[in-house]
Amino acid sequence: MNHFINVILPIPLQKLFTYQITEAEAKYLKIGMRVAVPFGKTKIFTALVFEIHLLSPEAYEAKEIHQILDKEPIVTIKQLTHWKWIANYYMCSIGEVMRASIPTAFLLESETLILKNEKFENEEILNDDEYLIYEALERKPVLKIKEINDILNKKGVIADINNLIDKGAIHLKEEIIQQYKPKLIKYVRLHKKYESNESLNQLLENINKAKKQREVVLSYFSLQAKLNKPIKMKELQIEANASSAIINALVKKEIIEIYSIQTDRISFDKGISNVKDLNEYQDIALNEIRDLFNKFDVNLFHGITSSGKTEIYAHLIKEVLDAGKQVLYLLPEIALTTQIISRLQSFFGDKISVFHSKYSIDERVEVWNNLLYKKEKAQLILGARSAVLLPFSDLGLIIVDEEHETSYKQYEPSPRYHARDTAIVLAKIHQTKVLLGSATPAIESFSNVKENKYGYIKLDRRYGDVLLPETELVDIKEKHRKKRMTGHFSDRLLVLIQEALDNKEQVILFQNRRGYSPIVECSTCGVAPQCPNCDVSLTYHKYRNELRCHYCGFNRAMPKTCPACENPTLDSKGFGTEQIEIELQNLFSQAKVGRMDSDTTRGKYGYQKIISAFQEQEIDILVGTQMLTKGLDFNHVSLVGVLNADNMLNFPDFRAYERSYQLLVQVSGRAGRAKKRGKVAIQTFNPYHQILQQVTTNDYEQMYKDQIDERHAFHYPPLVRLVKITLKHKDFSKVSKASDWVGRSLQNIFHENILGPTSPAISRVRNLHIKNILIKLPKNRPLGRSKEIIQKIKNSFQSIGEFRSVRFIVDVDNY
Ligand code: ADP
Ligand code: ZN
Repeated sequence: MNHFINVILPIPLQKLFTYQITEAEAKYLKIGMRVAVPFGKTKIFTALVFEIHLLSPEAYEAKEIHQILDKEPIVTIKQLTHWKWIANYYMCSIGEVMRASIPTAFLLESETLILKNEKFENEEILNDDEYLIYEALERKPVLKIKEINDILNKKGVIADINNLIDKGAIHLKEEIIQQYKPKLIKYVRLHKKYESNESLNQLLENINKAKKQREVVLSYFSLQAKLNKPIKMKELQIEANASSAIINALVKKEIIEIYSIQTDRISFDKGISNVKDLNEYQDIALNEIRDLFNKFDVNLFHGITSSGKTEIYAHLIKEVLDAGKQVLYLLPEIALTTQIISRLQSFFGDKISVFHSKYSIDERVEVWNNLLYKKEKAQLILGARSAVLLPFSDLGLIIVDEEHETSYKQYEPSPRYHARDTAIVLAKIHQTKVLLGSATPAIESFSNVKENKYGYIKLDRRYGDVLLPETELVDIKEKHRKKRMTGHFSDRLLVLIQEALDNKEQVILFQNRRGYSPIVECSTCGVAPQCPNCDVSLTYHKYRNELRCHYCGFNRAMPKTCPACENPTLDSKGFGTEQIEIELQNLFSQAKVGRMDSDTTRGKYGYQKIISAFQEQEIDILVGTQMLTKGLDFNHVSLVGVLNADNMLNFPDFRAYERSYQLLVQVSGRAGRAKKRGKVAIQTFNPYHQILQQVTTNDYEQMYKDQIDERHAFHYPPLVRLVKITLKHKDFSKVSKASDWVGRSLQNIFHENILGPTSPAISRVRNLHIKNILIKLPKNRPLGRSKEIIQKIKNSFQSIGEFRSVRFIVDVDNY
């Protein structure tokens, strides 16, 4: 009897592929194991077994597999169910979902590049074939798997390569990544000599004459009594008002010692503290959540900024972990949330694994295996978007923090999934519950509450009963008229900043990134230098004195004369965060100004450096973009300033008002979190704008009502579903013709529910011209059927010769 398997290949073709196996292999294989298979004339791929059966394919003769790569499945049946849903819902191939899910180390293919690990020494643990490969790498430092086939003169080498990776003898090319450099924080402690009371008394007597030094030692004791935890050098300096020279003198005398603790994210110590006791309002919220879990699968926790949502999550997590189940905690962007990680780490210690696509292959493989085998180390998974694709074996709860964040949606490449919605499906597969948390829920989620699909918990008190910050709208039209602006600052905002600085408090200034890049324009001929590859003006970066494209990365030195008219009259207009930083430095020369935007946070740990510097009060005023708004908890910020609220409100998108409300409320929420009520100043040309009024009064319900009415009136989500089709090609006339063809085909079926084709605001990126078509699918239309039709149109399109080279991208629920 012939046996066959259907496998998933990591490619964009929307089907499974059938291979032939022997009876023995059929007995051994399980769904979710990997096999190496030939593909096309010369390629080898790692494929995943999806079905095992006896049906030989009709149209072609099935090839044989090369070899089996696993002893146990590396992907669970539940995962495969989940992947199937993703592929189906987001209209992509299950192979693309597999590629997004599995660490690349699991997916060796003929083109994968292999390198020798220079540090490897245990050659004796290699078997003969492994040694041959290893030796070949001494002669030629980079080999493709194809070449290794030739060297060993056999087809099945992927298993050998996997073994070499496991033994640490080789690595994959992609694996060479930046090493993690943790920030070291300096702490102080009394020298060991002074552990006993007598020696201590002796010490105090000895330094009686060195007044300043004595003060430092006394401050040390008072801090120790107050904090009862390790004391940072910085804290001691502030408390004792001492220079580093004095501290160093004490170190030299062996009275105190300086030591460092890594703020390491990956290997965690045991949890050191219990979850915090909740106040009465938090307690009520927690009980409501527990109650609602019995009634609803998905629950929305609407807690205002600084109400202590994270502390409540900690209680829920503890209950699930104590029951021996796994928890998935999703965050919008892992880079921004070091803070949350270290908070949870103090409770759950080494039960936490962090998963992030920027982590090295080794780290990702480790998390994958720990989850699959239900290891203690991977009971609580913290991760951004892609963590939703991991092999959970016994999931007991999913928390989606800041559920309104649009960064949960993947744009590029496919699968273009939304991690919140994908998490909800994952929970259903695991028959467990989801908690969505936010101070500013997405309209979609709140609408599900209104329709009684989600449970709802509200908490509108800040922890410690600190009031929400007082918000003030500053009319800059008026200020301009009365000449009360200095650069981009109103006199009022300047007064507030000065007040905060005088009180030794910190300030956050928010500048929306969108639409406000500093553009260079010639004041003689009006021409702005353009990107040669994209349809946008180049942005001026003062710091490097260069012009840069934010879409493709093109850059050139700032020219001295206008490229069009050759006059030396190039002028930078508009303002970016960099401009603001420079103005601030001139206005407040005593203050330390920092900047957090895509420029200053380059590199894997860029954010963390700035966040810790601000936390350690090494920065007084922090200027930044969107990144500032996500879940940061600082204790000493008393003022948040928004430099211009209008550009985000005017952004041409149906979600612009909702997004503006969320951004403004979230950034305001960074003010006055710890003790005293904070202040927020929003500069605007339009102080009577409904959204700004709603931000001022913190009126989410009214904002929701207005917005949902608009969505009704103009047919936008959540009242309809959107599918966006994007066509791209380097030839404009071709993409035009193609989009007309697709537009017409869609109109024949969906009639007035088609918008476009249109050229987007930026209509050429990386030398490709772009056309968009938007499909609005009414809720009463069966979604699956509509998608089938769209897929059919796509298939016909791709079978037309002249359109073959046009990229056709489908984005379901696009943002
Ligand atoms: P949110 O996530 O709702 O913005 P957080 O969980 O960050 O709020 O809480 C705000 C601040 O208040 C944090 O510094 C947090 O540690 C503190 N806090 C909240 N609840 C408690 C509690 N029950 N006990 C001690 N501190 C708390
Ligand atoms: Zn460009």
